[in-house]
Amino acid sequence: MKKFVILGGGYGGLAIANRLLEGDIPSDTIITLVDRMPYQGLKTEFYALAAGTISDLDVRVAFPSDPRIEYKYGAVTGIDLESRTVTMDQEETIEYEWLAIALGCTDKHHGIPGADQYTASIQSLANTRKTYAILNDVKPYGEVNIIGGGLSGVEIAAELRESRPDLNIRILDRGPRVLSAFPEKLSQFVSSWFVEHDIALCSHISVSKIEPGVIYDQERPIYGDVAVWTAGIQPSEVVQKLNVPKDAQGRILLNEYYQIPSYPEVYVAGDCASLAFSPSAQVAGVQGDQIAQVVQAIWQGQTPRLDKIRLKGVLGSLGKKSGFGYMGKRTFIGRVPRLLKMGVLWKSKHHFG
Ligand SMILES: Cc1cc2nc3c(=O)[nH]c(=O)nc-3n(C[C@H](O)[C@H](O)[C@H](O)COP(=O)(O)OP(=O)(O)OC[C@H]3O[C@@H](n4cnc5c(N)ncnc54)[C@H](O)[C@@H]3O)c2cc1C
Repeated sequence: MKKFVILGGGYGGLAIANRLLEGDIPSDTIITLVDRMPYQGLKTEFYALAAGTISDLDVRVAFPSDPRIEYKYGAVTGIDLESRTVTMDQEETIEYEWLAIALGCTDKHHGIPGADQYTASIQSLANTRKTYAILNDVKPYGEVNIIGGGLSGVEIAAELRESRPDLNIRILDRGPRVLSAFPEKLSQFVSSWFVEHDIALCSHISVSKIEPGVIYDQERPIYGDVAVWTAGIQPSEVVQKLNVPKDAQGRILLNEYYQIPSYPEVYVAGDCASLAFSPSAQVAGVQGDQIAQVVQAIWQGQTPRLDKIRLKGVLGSLGKKSGFGYMGKRTFIGRVPRLLKMGVLWKSKHHFG
């Protein structure tokens, strides 16, 4: 049997699998999905799992069951593009005819000493579980520093306030305002929500070093019981090791069909792919779906035709009752974007694109 191997069953990898399973798969071909977990972990909800406002089960989605797809569970350790093989942690090797790399991302610590060892992470489900334990074990009225005021930093701070009203929560950001990639109006709304909910915002922080219980803003110490890292991401370690052309963020450069130009049998999806958009679940889902369209066209001997990717906008939450978002030039604040975000989550749990 020929193998279409998909590495990673997250937003990108599952979009490829689901779309392929909706159509015809050649009778001599099987899809092999590889992941270290036997279910999808909904990464967009990891902030709530870390804060303790939802359960582990709430962020898991079962993989599709179909005789045309098989599963291999374990950690991918490397890809040999020349011999077309994937190596796994248990010394197993998987050969492929076609490969899709959809392994998501990991923290980027920008070479800051101690950042890797002394900060909690929400970039994998395993690490988020550890972060949940650390955050919920902080002593009463303890101090939590969240490094990075982007979407995930803002969401975890707000959710933690809901979970632990006693804690002193602080967001440290290197820019002048939180959510610097969002319209200023949203940033202002979020800042006032934080003032109202007693979350401190510290801007222009330049983290130079982290030690147990202390973050250094250049020379100035900022003390705390826990530091959570939300200040940068990069593609997974397997992609970091892959010797192919990449963009400045370390994402793999691709042709118009999302193939690695010198290895057209290899597709790359989601956070590992160099796209014209910032990494997001939405992009990973749409692009994964398009990869499946390309593969189906090739299997049918046709030239792939892809629509331009159009995104629907961005939504963020501030606890369970408030949120923010923008679509095109319109911004939304309060309860409506929070309800919309719940709708998006429901759709992704039930495989509606
Ligand atoms: C707190 C938070 C909030 C977010 N909120 C939003 C949001 O509101 N909207 C939005 O669009 N995006 C959001 N994002 C971003 C979004 O989650 C990612 O961009 C998206 O998950 C990327 O999809 P992906 O398929 O590339 O990777 P993932 O969905 O992360 O999937 C990668 C898969 O690969 C597996 N894997 C990784 N390495 C290995 C390995 N070595 N071996 C085996 N398996 C492996 C993982 O287990 C995982 O199943 C958020 C991210 C975070 C952290």
